Amino acid sequence: MRSYCRSTTIPLPLMKSKPFGKIPDGRTAQLFTLKLPSGLQADITDYGGTVVRLLVPDRAGKLDDVVLGFDSAEKYAAHTSYFGCLIGRFGNRIAAGKFHLNGRTYTLATNNVPAGQPCHLHGGPEGFHRKLWSADLINRAGNSALRLHYVSRDGEEGYPGNLTVTVVYSLTDSQGLRIDYEATCDQPTPVNLTNHSYFNLRGEGSGDVLDHELTLNAAHFTPVNSGQIPTGEIAPIAGTPFDFRTPQKIGALINSTNEQLKNGEGYDHNFVLDAGKSAQPALVATAYEARSGRCMEILTTEPGVQLYSGNFLDGTLVGKSGRPYHRRNAFCLETQHYPDSPNQPAFPSTILIPGQTYRSTTVHRFSAK
Ligand code: BGC
Repeated sequence: MRSYCRSTTIPLPLMKSKPFGKIPDGRTAQLFTLKLPSGLQADITDYGGTVVRLLVPDRAGKLDDVVLGFDSAEKYAAHTSYFGCLIGRFGNRIAAGKFHLNGRTYTLATNNVPAGQPCHLHGGPEGFHRKLWSADLINRAGNSALRLHYVSRDGEEGYPGNLTVTVVYSLTDSQGLRIDYEATCDQPTPVNLTNHSYFNLRGEGSGDVLDHELTLNAAHFTPVNSGQIPTGEIAPIAGTPFDFRTPQKIGALINSTNEQLKNGEGYDHNFVLDAGKSAQPALVATAYEARSGRCMEILTTEPGVQLYSGNFLDGTLVGKSGRPYHRRNAFCLETQHYPDSPNQPAFPSTILIPGQTYRSTTVHRFSAK
């Protein structure tokens, strides 16, 4: 049993919530604040289970907000940015919005059209990022935690079966934002949950992330076709711009002539993590920003991570501090199973069956040097 199942619901003094605006059906979203004595603070709304603000100390102890986002639920509803939200039922793409399961073909919305080729992206237009989750504040291992709950009904966005999902966001003594996902179903269904935070360790709205140094513990990745669907190949990264096994600036090779970088319009690829699917979160990625000294480590139980270098930000979205978000002003590291897994027999299965429990944990651990 997971530790949060044993948690009490007694609020800690460092937790609070306030209204965060109205969502399209008229209900009011709430914004919850989790905070550690060090200053590490996460503001999370129950609309989409979205991390709205993440305050992290730099090497001098100064707090900056290191994630892109908006200042109201209305703005999240008005834009399909996926800033900081929970993604489900299926993170990333499903080719042509179709998959076959137990003799049936399921048709999902095709809400994304890379290079003119329609596909299903991030659970569809009304995916988990657009749901008002029920929320309660809990005490987990003595620290602030937010438990979110959502029941996705049979047929929602075209997916089979009812899916009951619990996500717990907690802050850890090791200066981490931890995300624990759990789900059960009553019919076999694909499940691939993630969080879609866009990071800039110098602070949101402070320019591009090309000088962030990235390390990824991955010797392989899943190449994509021009429609950004995996070809099915598990390709070695050695000798390519995808080799982040030793620290490399995100911008160092991003403009190289490379078919994969062309298909993704930059980095927008799933890395096959060396640790594989693990029982305990394994260290898979490190990002370091030299000016602030901030360092973010990512630990996960998932077998993959999507590196997305903010290629489609174009300056039209203006964030919570009034500054526009331009191309490559942030990067995402979305822990996940591989994209299009329901159509890729060679990839680890993403099909959850009744009686099983889907479990996934990711920790974003911060330090400064
Ligand atoms: C995808 C990108 C997409 C972005 C949307 C990423 O996970 O891989 O292709 O544009 O999400 O924010």
